Amino acid sequence: MISLEQSRKSFHEVRGLPVQNFWKTVFQAQGRDDILGTPKFQNYLNWTPNRSNCPELEVLMEDLTESIPEEWRARGRRIFTGRNLRGEANAEAWQSGEIGVIELNYGFTSAAMIYMVLYSKYFEMIHTLGTEVDFSDDDEEIIRMVLEEIEKGGFEPILIAEEERKTWTANGRVFPAHRLLREIPDSRSEESYHESVRAIEEFAIAHEYAHHLLGHTNDEYPRSRYINRKLDTEMAKLGVDLSSYDVNEAQVDELRADSLALLMTSGRLMDQVSAPSIYRSMAGAIIGLTVLAHINETWVVSNAPDETHPDFITRYEVATALLKEMSRSMPIGQEGGHPFGFLAQLSGFVSLILDRWLTSHDDGHSPANILGLASWLFERSAEIHEELNQLKAVPERK
Ligand SMILES: [Zn+2]
Repeated sequence: MISLEQSRKSFHEVRGLPVQNFWKTVFQAQGRDDILGTPKFQNYLNWTPNRSNCPELEVLMEDLTESIPEEWRARGRRIFTGRNLRGEANAEAWQSGEIGVIELNYGFTSAAMIYMVLYSKYFEMIHTLGTEVDFSDDDEEIIRMVLEEIEKGGFEPILIAEEERKTWTANGRVFPAHRLLREIPDSRSEESYHESVRAIEEFAIAHEYAHHLLGHTNDEYPRSRYINRKLDTEMAKLGVDLSSYDVNEAQVDELRADSLALLMTSGRLMDQVSAPSIYRSMAGAIIGLTVLAHINETWVVSNAPDETHPDFITRYEVATALLKEMSRSMPIGQEGGHPFGFLAQLSGFVSLILDRWLTSHDDGHSPANILGLASWLFERSAEIHEELNQLKAVPERK
């Protein structure tokens, strides 16, 4: 059986980290005596690792454990979640005997931060398109100039990220070398930016947590049979059938971990799905999957036996199908917002990233431009309106 003490001890030993606040270790490595010596930071820096070596992840783990039924929590409370500075930019679950660990590498967080900057800039571009550009303006030259300016704001950072990726892949480290990958646009508060980065981390951790719960790690965990059945039931209710996807066994496990992660982050397992929890799960999952695909270049992957992860397109399809079904019955917000609209916006962002990737890998592909994207989004928002109207007539599925 997993023991929290053993898990905590082993994680620190294996990774050669002192048992203390991860950020204290980082500041020590950087020689930041100014921060280390500041009295008001002492409480934070001297915080003692319990279920994580990072105070923020400790809270995330508590929240995720609250999101699963009481009978599953004993195992969850024994898992240790550790941040690590070195290693591949990803998250992973490891288990052996008494040790159950979720590891989150800083490269992943760094990539999540970059992608949130990209998304914020894309969001600003879409918003500007909708509010500031007067498409009825007779002066085409002005419209063209305005659009070019907007396009630069939204597209350029994505292009830069695509170029920098080669460096990340070469040395396994993700670092936002370019200024445009670090700057948060004025329209987004630092608070909301960091909250979104945390939502991306939460999805990654929930996915690894799900591997532990579903018994994908190598120990005997009898309850996992029951948890798997519960997942089957929920997925059937939500109308998602994984057997309709062309994937191998290992890839099915990944899709199941994604699915359980979404049931956790959305609050579905405890009947606590709300608009905020759905919006947060959507951002965390869709941008999180994009980050992973970008780092590992797994946009398109076959189901050959040696491929352990399904490609981005498949993971994205399963995630959006579940998220859509969970938010279908939600009322339209006061300002006309609905999770469907947000999902469409996220998929516009994903399409842009995919488009840039295709452009750099396929000579025959002509890149999208902002007008193409704008008209796609306008069409999509009309469709969503239509869909929402139809929904009002359909009884809710549970
Ligand atoms: Zn996985």
